[in-house]
Amino acid sequence: LPLDAPGSSSAPADILHEVFGYSQFRGPQQDIVEHVVGGGDALVLMPTGGGKSLCYQIPAIARQRAGRGVSVVVSPLIALMHDQVGALHEAGVNAAFLNSTLDWEQTQDVERRMLRGEITLLYAAPERVNTPRFLSQLDSLKERGKLSLFAIDEAHCVSQWGHDFRPEYRALTVLHERYPGVPRIALTATADALTRADIVERLQLEEARQFVSSFDRPNIRYTIVEKKDATTQLLRFIEREHEGDAGVVYCQSRKRVEDVAVMLQGAGINALPYHAGLDAAVRQKHQDRFLREEGVVMVATIAFGMGIDKPDVRFVGHLDMPKNIEGYYQETGRAGRDGAPADAWMAYGLQDVVNQRRMIDESPAGEEFKQVMRGKLDALLSLAEASDCRRVRLLGYFGEKSTPCGNCDNCLNPPQVWDGTDAARKLLSTIYRVQQLSGISFGAGHIMDILRGKETEKVKQFGHERISTFGIGAEFSEVQLRGVLRQLIATGALAVDAEAFNTLKLTEGSRAVLKGEANVTLRESVSSPAARGGKPRR
Ligand code: ADP
Ligand code: ZN
Repeated sequence: LPLDAPGSSSAPADILHEVFGYSQFRGPQQDIVEHVVGGGDALVLMPTGGGKSLCYQIPAIARQRAGRGVSVVVSPLIALMHDQVGALHEAGVNAAFLNSTLDWEQTQDVERRMLRGEITLLYAAPERVNTPRFLSQLDSLKERGKLSLFAIDEAHCVSQWGHDFRPEYRALTVLHERYPGVPRIALTATADALTRADIVERLQLEEARQFVSSFDRPNIRYTIVEKKDATTQLLRFIEREHEGDAGVVYCQSRKRVEDVAVMLQGAGINALPYHAGLDAAVRQKHQDRFLREEGVVMVATIAFGMGIDKPDVRFVGHLDMPKNIEGYYQETGRAGRDGAPADAWMAYGLQDVVNQRRMIDESPAGEEFKQVMRGKLDALLSLAEASDCRRVRLLGYFGEKSTPCGNCDNCLNPPQVWDGTDAARKLLSTIYRVQQLSGISFGAGHIMDILRGKETEKVKQFGHERISTFGIGAEFSEVQLRGVLRQLIATGALAVDAEAFNTLKLTEGSRAVLKGEANVTLRESVSSPAARGGKPRR
């Protein structure tokens, strides 16, 4: 008799022990399972590794045992479907998937078994769910009382504010409209307040009970360093802290992925590249090696990672800044799923800020969308610029209050901070005066040269040594001024005009700083030349 045959115990705790071999539910699992077994709708927000799968697998088995038939799991990732179905088979559960990897005969075979109500968990890609063929099969199940449950995994894919919008998810409202009596459980590991509201609205989960877990991953140590020579910094970090460990290093572009992989290989690290431009067979091979071999470092674009369940990833590095905190959280969350100590390490610099701003500005999206994206980028920037606990800020972004964690760079080594208000005012007034005198804007390098009193060719060419702020910032190092610029841009007190050679432009927000109404507090760069200006405050 298969384990999920009708007639066996449908008590969740029995299923947990018998089928999955676990002794206890974890966190909110039991509440969620009981709610869904009882036919309630649920929205589950739980961090990666929290144990979301059991939240719908156990209800599916319980309801099948009670004679209610098939549960449909909507999942966007083929690799993940295969893993889950494989694991369920091993546990003796009737599971199957419908996706593009099946040929016609295999598809028909799965469909036949589904229509007979034999399958307990049927995984299907979202685009499949919206086909007339599939819907008519669900109709048939429904008529016979054999349509048990819908689970919508990675539910943030429905939101365009999320980091992984998939238009096919939009059409999933059909499930609620067409089968109003069938319970639905939607699950995600990322959702700030905006995305959460979007999921509720788009999937019509207004009546669903929300189960919100803590998003804290206490075993992950967060470190964000100022970018100097990022690849060398990365190499040093790996050599010092993670020799022989498995890790993932995220880069912005394919080219960069290739370069960094080669650089790490040259330093004797078992690194492999992964990005969407590589041959599918090569990608598969690299992924397999990452999963099977020990100590492989995957250098990748964000094309890599979703649905990869490797528990012992000891570090996640970011050589370039992600788009927003959700992306950062999701990517760093791939470290330490086994609960053992792991590192999330990121290098970021002025150029990251400029690049991300430009990508938003140049995207074809509407202005409202761009505003939201800029707001999200700003939140990430302020996390990067923070001199207090990173975790408090990170969790705060997801609406969770916490106290300093003792396991992030800022808690472990409180940074020196200095008052950059004076430097900020001097920078902004230089930008203003240059614009007045020459009628055009200039980039960061030139503005810093003027402030620091450097008579470069360009300075002389434009007569900028005559500007009244020329040389009045000689006490500041370039590193310090870059820090000030970064923070001014991060807080919107200064803009970078991507369409005009990344020149600097004053904004509405500049005024408060110029008038001395806004303070600018900066981290003292750890490896900067001894601070020459500003007074250390700690
Ligand atoms: P998520 O989908 O939330 O990232 P998973 O469902 O993949 O998490 O679960 C993460 C890991 O935790 C898996 O290896 C899973 O088998 C394990 N797990 C989940 N629930 C329990 C439990 N109650 N007891 C022990 N292990 C569990
Ligand atoms: Zn901390």
